[in-house]
Amino acid sequence: MTDLTRLTAAETAAAVASGETSAVDVAQAHLDRIGAIDEKVHAFLHVDTEGALSAARAVDDRRAKGEKLGPLAGVPLALKDIFATKGIPTTVGSKILEGWIPPYDATVTKRLKDAGIVILGKTNMDEFAMGSSTENSAYGPTGNPWDLTRIPGGSGGGSSAALASYQAPLAIGTDTGGSIRQPAAVTGTVGVKPTYGGVSRYGMVAFSSSLDQGGPCARTVLDAALLHEAIAGHDPLDSTSIDAPVPAVVEAARNGNVKGMRIGVVKEFGGEGYQAGVMQRFNESVELLRELGAEIVEISCPSFTLALPAYYLIAPSEASSNLARFDAMRYGLRVGDDGTKSAEEVTALTREAGFGDEVKRRIILGTYALSSGYYDAYYGSAQKVRTLITRDFETAFGRVDVLVSPTTPTTAFPIGERVDDPMAMYLADLCTIPSNLAGNAAMSIPCGLAPEDGLPVGLQIIAPAMADDRLYRVGAAVEAALTGRWGHPLLEEAPAL
Ligand code: GLN
Repeated sequence: MTDLTRLTAAETAAAVASGETSAVDVAQAHLDRIGAIDEKVHAFLHVDTEGALSAARAVDDRRAKGEKLGPLAGVPLALKDIFATKGIPTTVGSKILEGWIPPYDATVTKRLKDAGIVILGKTNMDEFAMGSSTENSAYGPTGNPWDLTRIPGGSGGGSSAALASYQAPLAIGTDTGGSIRQPAAVTGTVGVKPTYGGVSRYGMVAFSSSLDQGGPCARTVLDAALLHEAIAGHDPLDSTSIDAPVPAVVEAARNGNVKGMRIGVVKEFGGEGYQAGVMQRFNESVELLRELGAEIVEISCPSFTLALPAYYLIAPSEASSNLARFDAMRYGLRVGDDGTKSAEEVTALTREAGFGDEVKRRIILGTYALSSGYYDAYYGSAQKVRTLITRDFETAFGRVDVLVSPTTPTTAFPIGERVDDPMAMYLADLCTIPSNLAGNAAMSIPCGLAPEDGLPVGLQIIAPAMADDRLYRVGAAVEAALTGRWGHPLLEEAPAL
């Protein structure tokens, strides 16, 4: 019998639709896999066995009645614990929301359910999505399935690890500075940050509202496209949601082709500070794109070197404001409420106990950057840099259809290596942050293993806003060519756990 956990999402949906297998059997196979290995990986914070099986049963019932099923009906998914799920704990990886059971579903959650996608549970993440390794989770780190002593990326390390260890064929992440793409790169999976406003933020716990973007994670480009289509599209509940048709991502993923496309290589991303094996695989990918018929152009985006410092002013500034709502009065943790203390004292004690070090660091940084007298020097300057970065992209996209770069400067680093060195941790997002600041679309796909450590390398593809389909067109072409050349890095070489 085929192992149902090894199928792609597209294959799973087809098998369920044809009656070759049932959605319940698919869900059970994944729940069994979680039961067998997640103690080692720690991808999940909460597994919803009952909910998953009843969602699967509903799909099987609809099929039995002859109803037409959607393209991902019956496919299991791992949901980042930043999305509100009615009746199911939602912690954002933080003690401050421990025990919180949302009374409503995020729009993404609702769309997944409406599509007949089976939510297996909630995945581990850096607290409030602040981090690049999932080590900032208040509930302990997640291991990278390729080497459990290494990080699975962050903040969405639970989602990427669930995919790479075959605990789910689909996952959802959020990307404020790289938290979908960087975990995808270091686990050999596919991750997409859609155009800002492409996927609703309603019910997604806010970190930095002008940068946060939910998006699809999968093991193949087509699976990511199918999931993208299921969750994207206008939502009146999110005022920044784009009211325009979703780019034709599935069609693009089915027709991977770069012939005649102009592809820009970002000059600023590469060279010193980049691991040799990462650059080797990246350069080979560029060569491959040329062989496949693309015209390769070197593009300079000089402001990109300022993206990291600008991000670390803007994101903490917005976070300091967004996280003010955790005041111990309305939901979540409450510490020191013994009848003798003022509301202010209870708030202070709760925030002291409920937030971890990185979250506190960002609140302090953001509050400082926004304070009167420093606002112009810090926050104001960062916003100007943001404009310069957007202009660099505009100039670049006047010359090329997409840009490419390595997704990350290195492969997965050892757990513990950067946890006490915030600057080293922040560097993991060097190449991904510009797209958040500009709001355009970007994807990471696997492009082989680094020769020196045998770990996955990610190729980043960046497209203009609302041209998300170009990511899939290029991603599918590279994926097909690489699979033909040395096999799909994850599907064929994933280590046994
Ligand atoms: N690693 C970056 C940060 O710590 C990005 C996080 C994210 O995209 N959520 O802010």
